[in-house]
Amino acid sequence: MQPTKNSEAFPFSEAEIRSAMESGDLFYEYQPTVSLSCGKVCGAEALMRWDRNGETIYPDHFIPLAEQSCLAADITNAMIPLLIRDMKEIERAAPALVTAFNACAQDCIDGEMANILVQAIADGKIRPGSIRIEVTETSLAKNIDKLRDQFQILLDAGVKLAMDDLGKGYSSLDLLSKLPFTCLKIDKGIVSAMDVSSKAHHIIESISDLSAKIGVTLIAEGVESRKTYMALDRMGCHQAQGYWIGKPMPLDEYLEFVRYHHLWGIEKVAA
Ligand code: C2E
Ligand code: CA
Ligand code: CA
Repeated sequence: MQPTKNSEAFPFSEAEIRSAMESGDLFYEYQPTVSLSCGKVCGAEALMRWDRNGETIYPDHFIPLAEQSCLAADITNAMIPLLIRDMKEIERAAPALVTAFNACAQDCIDGEMANILVQAIADGKIRPGSIRIEVTETSLAKNIDKLRDQFQILLDAGVKLAMDDLGKGYSSLDLLSKLPFTCLKIDKGIVSAMDVSSKAHHIIESISDLSAKIGVTLIAEGVESRKTYMALDRMGCHQAQGYWIGKPMPLDEYLEFVRYHHLWGIEKVAA
């Protein structure tokens, strides 16, 4: 399968995306997240891909339209059984890891996603504490009270909740105070700027202080160098994800990664 990453807006129609979902052509790749303090693999972010006649299509080319046309929630809900199946294999390879998936705030509001996840946890299909939702575009959610209620239901069932893309467009500190997030995920834009901009460096340092004060886990994405990794560690950031650690990979490769590199950081930082 030859991956492509072209950047035209909306190159596919809503009907094509729906058909991909119904035909089982959507799947996840997994990008590992590691603990900065001990170097262990903490889990992975599930990133959606579309196998379109052997060509891999990346989410930036179909998720924005899916979100605009209210198809994104259907896709997420339809993909949860596949995620649960993958998580079973991950659990067999290495217990106690956390798997994250992405959802936009508006898609969490109607209650369907919470129903599916709470039921799966009650049925023993998902271990409490083993799943995280990375919520994007929180500020665009039309009903914050309803969103908070749904978050509380998820939290009570043992689902972790991350405010995604902190430092980019639509994340807001006001909503951080109103919604019960357990994690903050710093966007790769500001993480990659850290090496060249002392301002970006100070902003991340402040976010790290803030996350310690409010008691949430801080995860940095877009870690592309040892230098960035070490700096984030010094700043007190908890977890890192990025190309330097591992690119998004098919499930089989991720299973190998957790089997053989579960102490990833210790091996690589010492090297
Ligand atoms: P995101 O949640 O910010 O995910 C991180 C993106 O950064 C991923 O791109 C990942 O491959 C990329 N990335 C990770 N590490 C590095 C690095 O070190 N350097 C660089 N330059 N990039 C890195 P991807 O897989 O193309 O996903 C793009 C966006 O699509 C995601 O951004 C997320 O917002 C959305 N997305 C992905 N999967 C899903 C999904 O299942 N549902 C929804 N609703 N959105 C999804
Ligand atoms: Ca994410
Ligand atoms: Ca991001």
